[in-house]
Amino acid sequence: MKPGPTIVYQCPTCKKLVTNRSLYSGNTFGAKVYSDKKQIAPMLPESPAITICSDCKTIYWLNETNEIGEYDDVADNKIWNYAEKARFLTLKEYFMALDQKVYTNPYDEFFIRNWILWCFNDRIREPGKWSRFFGVPKVYTSEKKKTLWTENNEKLISLLDLNDVNEKIMIAELSRNLGRFERCVELWNSIDDADVRWLKVLVLKECEKKNSNVFQIR
Ligand SMILES: [Zn+2]
Repeated sequence: MKPGPTIVYQCPTCKKLVTNRSLYSGNTFGAKVYSDKKQIAPMLPESPAITICSDCKTIYWLNETNEIGEYDDVADNKIWNYAEKARFLTLKEYFMALDQKVYTNPYDEFFIRNWILWCFNDRIREPGKWSRFFGVPKVYTSEKKKTLWTENNEKLISLLDLNDVNEKIMIAELSRNLGRFERCVELWNSIDDADVRWLKVLVLKECEKKNSNVFQIR
C-alpha cells in the first residue's frame, strides 16, 4: 500500500478544515467481498467521499469544489496539520443527506443509497458489534427501520438498468434482500455469463435456503 498525499477540504458553510488521505496504490490481498459488493480490503482502505462538519453539521462532498490543497508528509501550513480527519457518515446521516438533497444527479443519489444499504447490511456483516444490543443480528430493528430499508432498496432498484448485466445482478441481490426469491432466481436465470456463473451458484443456494441477508462471496 502506497499512501498518496493528504487532501485538505473546507466545510462550505463554516470553513472548518478536514483532511482525507489518498492512495497511490493498494491491493486487494486478504480482502473480503460481500454479496452487496462491499469489499473490505485491509491493503486498500477506503476514504469517505461525503462527510459531515463536526462544528456546523453541514453534510458536504469531499470533492474539488471543497478542496483547498494537499500535502505529502507534513504541511507547511501548520493549521492543516491539526485539521480533523474527515469521517464516514452514519446510517442516520446518510438519510439526512437524502433529506437535505445534497445530490444533484442520480449517480450521487445512488451513491448515498448504496451506502445506506451497506450500513444496514453491516449489522449482518459485523454481528458481534450489533448482537450486543439486539441479540440475533437483523438488518432492521424496528418497523420504522424496515420501512426505510424497503423504500431504499426499491429506490435503488429503480435507479438501476436491467439491460446492464452488473446492474441486473444488483437488482437480483436487492430483490433477494426484499425476500423476493423468485424474482432473484428469474433474473439470475436470464444471465448466461461464464464470468459470473460461480456467483450465480452461490446466490441460488441462498435463495433455496430463503436467506435474504447479505453474505460473504469471497
Ligand atoms: Zn461547518
